Amino acid sequence: MKYFLSIIGGGPAGYTAAEKASKQGKSVILFEREQLGGTCLNVGCIPTKTLLYSAKQYYNALHADKYGVKAETVSFDYGKIFQRKQKVVRKLVAGIKQKLNNEFCTVVSGSASVVSRTDDTVLIECNGEKYEAENLLICTGSSNFVPPIEGIQDNPAVWDSTSALDAKELPASMIIVGGGVIGMEFATLYHELGVPVTVIEAMPTILPNLDQDVVKVLRDKYEKAGIRILTSTKVMSLEGNKVTAQPAEGEAITLEAEHILVSVGRRPNLDGLEALEGLEFTRKGINVDEGMRTNLNNVYAAGDITGKIMLAHVASRQAEVAVSRMLKQIPVQRIAYNAIPSVVYTNPEIASVGLTETDAADIPHEVRSMPMTFSGRFVAENEGETGLCKMLVDTKHNTVLGVHMIGNPCSEFVAAASFAVRMGYTVAEFEQVVFPHPTVSEILKEIL
Ligand code: NAD
Repeated sequence: MKYFLSIIGGGPAGYTAAEKASKQGKSVILFEREQLGGTCLNVGCIPTKTLLYSAKQYYNALHADKYGVKAETVSFDYGKIFQRKQKVVRKLVAGIKQKLNNEFCTVVSGSASVVSRTDDTVLIECNGEKYEAENLLICTGSSNFVPPIEGIQDNPAVWDSTSALDAKELPASMIIVGGGVIGMEFATLYHELGVPVTVIEAMPTILPNLDQDVVKVLRDKYEKAGIRILTSTKVMSLEGNKVTAQPAEGEAITLEAEHILVSVGRRPNLDGLEALEGLEFTRKGINVDEGMRTNLNNVYAAGDITGKIMLAHVASRQAEVAVSRMLKQIPVQRIAYNAIPSVVYTNPEIASVGLTETDAADIPHEVRSMPMTFSGRFVAENEGETGLCKMLVDTKHNTVLGVHMIGNPCSEFVAAASFAVRMGYTVAEFEQVVFPHPTVSEILKEIL
């Protein structure tokens, strides 16, 4: 049998594409070497958010006094927290399996590699069997990057995000190398569960790609709470559980913790694709056009493998676009990269969409800024917090260019801001939208 579409990788890009194409009655074969759901569902977004939710419950109980609630003997059982995380992941993986359980979709468990390709056929091998398809969608994702730092390889004290999620016990203390998204989410988890945390970041700031006023609110809170944050400091070498780091100025320092979590970015998984002769790459991953097609005409790619923006919701949208283009659907689908929301699940959460002030340097714009305390609901539920909401408005067209927020639960309403950015709403148009009262989302209206 010759399939219409073969997909390597069953993460958010792969399973979304399989679901979309099979729903259109197209025959699909999907190969997955680990678990359906990919990094996001098995060792990324979902398990992290599940652990973070338990940590938040504990932390809130510890600090319930500020809401007039007495919780005197608060404790947690990490074994139970861990088990619940496993259960949540299992349930969601089963949900994906269910979605792909239809007459048009075949799922093969194993490691697939491309054997050969012509303009109308891609030949793939998996578990010793060969499979033919008209099209190939590469959704092989990414893996934790191991930087070339002396003493990092085969060091049992070193964790990456996957080993941190696999650990059944909490570390006694933790050094986190890399103050990016993964680093700051794990810093939140460990800190809220009482583990002493030090974050070492090479750049002058943690979360360097985000709005820096928003990041400052987080950093001030975390440092006050006892998280040690060393910026402009580069990790030079490791020896067992000792880390030697060099600050931009002054002497090198040596720090020690039970475990060292290395979270300095991810790299695309390219193995198994060697037979795709002439496949073009960018500096970050496989090169694709706006329809997710590579330079080989029946080969598409979606998700982290493209190295564009490594987020699950980008991967699934890219997959929708790829399938729609393969099916030659009208209207032609594309992705609005200027309106991709992103969230960092710290406490408070950070959520943003659109341009930062750095991105908008060449566009005439004004910045509107407001503490979240302008929202009544925020004041009611966030004792002692101020939060921040910033909006960038194009002064020529009066459109919303970007929104950057810190304050719970901004992850839940950043989609409203994404909508405004995506649709090119002017401030006057956005003003006509009614927000429910009292919700923290009203900050988006207050700031207009
Ligand atoms: P990242 O790129 O967000 O951050 C890595 C950080 O490590 C950077 O700030 C970098 O300056 C720093 N760094 C690099 N080398 C260093 C060194 N030797 N010493 C000290 N610091 C060093 O990467 P990440 O946090 O590993 O995340 C990987 C990807 O996964 C990202 O694309 C991220 O967006 C995605 N992700 C997203 C979410 C989310 O959306 N909530 C959660 C987790 C991961």
